[in-house]
Amino acid sequence: MSEQPPVSADVVIIGGGVIGLSAAYHLAAAGVADVVVLERGDLGGGSTSKAAGGVRTAFSDEVNIDLAQRSLAAFERFGDEHDQDIDLHRSGYLFLLRDDAQLADFAVASRLQRRFGIDSQMIGAVEACRLSPLVNPVEVAGAMWSPDDGHCSPESVVLGYARSARRLGVRIVTGCEVTGVDVESGRIAGVQTAHGAISTRTVVCSAGAWSRQVGRWAGVDLPVDALRRHVATTSPVAGLDPHTPFTVDFASSLYFHREGPGLLMGAPDADDVWGVDAARDPSWLEHLAAVMQHRLVGLDEVGLRIGWAGLYEVTPDHNALIGQAEEVEGFVYATGFSGHGFLMGPGVGEVVRDLVTERPPVVDVTTLAATRFTAREARPERHIV
Ligand SMILES: Cc1cc2nc3c(=O)[nH]c(=O)nc-3n(C[C@H](O)[C@H](O)[C@H](O)COP(=O)(O)OP(=O)(O)OC[C@H]3O[C@@H](n4cnc5c(N)ncnc54)[C@H](O)[C@@H]3O)c2cc1C
Repeated sequence: MSEQPPVSADVVIIGGGVIGLSAAYHLAAAGVADVVVLERGDLGGGSTSKAAGGVRTAFSDEVNIDLAQRSLAAFERFGDEHDQDIDLHRSGYLFLLRDDAQLADFAVASRLQRRFGIDSQMIGAVEACRLSPLVNPVEVAGAMWSPDDGHCSPESVVLGYARSARRLGVRIVTGCEVTGVDVESGRIAGVQTAHGAISTRTVVCSAGAWSRQVGRWAGVDLPVDALRRHVATTSPVAGLDPHTPFTVDFASSLYFHREGPGLLMGAPDADDVWGVDAARDPSWLEHLAAVMQHRLVGLDEVGLRIGWAGLYEVTPDHNALIGQAEEVEGFVYATGFSGHGFLMGPGVGEVVRDLVTERPPVVDVTTLAATRFTAREARPERHIV
């Protein structure tokens, strides 16, 4: 444990991933004096450090576009604001599409993105393969191209937010597991940890794939399930275009981006395991190799190694859960990003700040309330990998 947890705090944030740390920083920057982050492992040690680092505004749902656009602007300023290089590459995001139905669906999303001032374009197959030369043109019908998107380093973002938050007085306690949440007369009264109780009137649940349990302690239904996903890296790729975009083959969900002299790659498998076991399964590489052989070219001589496995925190409609619980006063949640939470970290941190301080949120997240499932108002995000 990094330090003894305090006996009381104004706000207790459960989870030290990108969401919890961004929220802590934004709360402290807004003048909230007594903020504590509790992380049972190391900072970023949950899903955040396992992310592929993709940062994109290319979504089909406007609330996601809004959150992602704010966040991308924050990533652009991150070095200056937090004195931390995050290795941001604005190499673009390319969604490869296979048939007319996909082209029509993404064209609708692209129009929506342009309404937000985003330079999103539908392009032909030849242009798509020119932008991403490792793509096998067979079966590419066209693409959605978002030139200002890209990727950056999740670990560096965690470091930057943690350092800035600490400078502003946030206490960050690692190695401290939360074991319960106390509710009295319908409002948050405290949290229990393996190292003592903390009395507080406000809890923020940013516990990622483990959020369902945290919600249960407070009597709040957070429908989040963990799903294991793998990432591989390659040996150096001869002649690799330094501008290689973050490329997603939407039908197979194969994705890759340049990582130093090689590639970082992922490809969800139908056999990906549900549950919080993030142990690597070497047989996944066979699945990846089979998809690569069909969808990519020029990589026959390139070595492939399993990088790591991590957990997606998945909701029934692949959209996040963000809000202030109706059941319990003082319980704010921001979780369930279903594979795109890293890129939303900055914007979501601002929204959590606003929910805690009871200001109108910078992005209207009313439709992301966890109660949407009981009210049968699920809000599907279609363009996920
Ligand atoms: C392979 C892979 C690739 C991905 N690629 C991308 C990508 O390219 N772009 C993108 O935007 N997103 C990506 N994601 C998704 C992204 O990683 C997550 O959506 C995001 O990191 C969620 O951040 P978080 O802070 O909510 O959760 P986490 O980073 O998981 O943080 C939650 C923290 O809570 C802690 N915790 C849980 N329970 C307790 C408890 N009881 N007490 C104390 N601490 C607790 C955990 O230890 C954990 O550190 C990817 C995910 C994976 C697995």
